[in-house]
Amino acid sequence: MPPTTSPRNLTLASYKLHRLRLPLAMPIGDSQVKFDVHWMTVLELVTGDGLTGVGFDLQQGCPTPALAQLQAQFEYNMWPALRGANPFGEALRISRPRGGNVGAAILPLAVETALWDLMGKALDLPLYRLLGGKDPEVPAYGSTLDFHLNDDDFRRRLGDFKRMGFRAIKIKVGHPDVEWDLKRLGIARDVMGAGADIMVDANEAWSPKEAIRRSRIYRDSSFNIFWIEDPITREDYAGYAQLRGEIPFTRINTGEYLGFSGKRRLLEAGGVDVLNLHGSIGASRAAAHLAGDFGIPVSLGNTLLELGVHLAASLPEVLYLEFSDLTWNKVAKEPVKFANSKAIAPDRPGHGIELDREALAQFSQSE
Ligand SMILES: [Mg+2]
Repeated sequence: MPPTTSPRNLTLASYKLHRLRLPLAMPIGDSQVKFDVHWMTVLELVTGDGLTGVGFDLQQGCPTPALAQLQAQFEYNMWPALRGANPFGEALRISRPRGGNVGAAILPLAVETALWDLMGKALDLPLYRLLGGKDPEVPAYGSTLDFHLNDDDFRRRLGDFKRMGFRAIKIKVGHPDVEWDLKRLGIARDVMGAGADIMVDANEAWSPKEAIRRSRIYRDSSFNIFWIEDPITREDYAGYAQLRGEIPFTRINTGEYLGFSGKRRLLEAGGVDVLNLHGSIGASRAAAHLAGDFGIPVSLGNTLLELGVHLAASLPEVLYLEFSDLTWNKVAKEPVKFANSKAIAPDRPGHGIELDREALAQFSQSE
């Protein structure tokens, strides 16, 4: 019998890059860094039959190379392997980098995201469904990235999240003066109400001893902290295990800054209560699988255009997804929606983020 439908041509045929400068509405950062601007690269991968997959990459603060340079790097290091390839094979392959076989990957996250977007579109499935999810809604928290805001601006930002319906909030701590931390915790509780879940992120500001001391001070000052994020340096697995034993009254959230191997060591050391994932869909799925093997839940850190919502909606035991309400959502015709302290995965094919061409033109800067 001859086929009744014409075969599709899903092979990758062309691509387009956009270089964007996204000024932030307010400075963001933590006890270690401060940024006023984001530089985003948007990648469009187009198949032989005209489907387009969209992916994103981000650099904070420091400008990305000029568009011509980005294009030349992509053309040399990435496109030869992608041209004519099938997006399914490219996205699903497990490769083992060995020694000199590893080239400099250019925009790897944008490529992976665009490939998954194409898979969803080719199958006419929202990404979270393709990944096995059934419920598009995921618990979400507001994340203020507030370390460099004065108290008034901090209060206003908390109010914005409260008005958006958030009942969970994460604030920055790690100031040299613990009284500053306590003052900010007080403001957060005041604005969000006593029933809100409050998380803190120290961004590796402390030694294990200082982390234990501060956690106890917060508790003794009547703050019930849902989780403490990145209290000490990322690779201090023994320190994390010690901490976990000494502050059983809260959860330790970490792993955000670790690769797959680091996450495995952290889990093996018993140093984490909530494993933090973000970025690559493939690597995050592998890490979530591993976390499940240790009986440890996960959380999703900030992801570009909030696309981690698809991953979160498809994984078991996701406590929360982070939302910081940043400028990058301006390039989406319809950004991921948040309501009632939940993120809602778009029910459109692929990741469901369609580019707003006017915004793209507005933020584009070729050099
Ligand atoms: Mg963090």
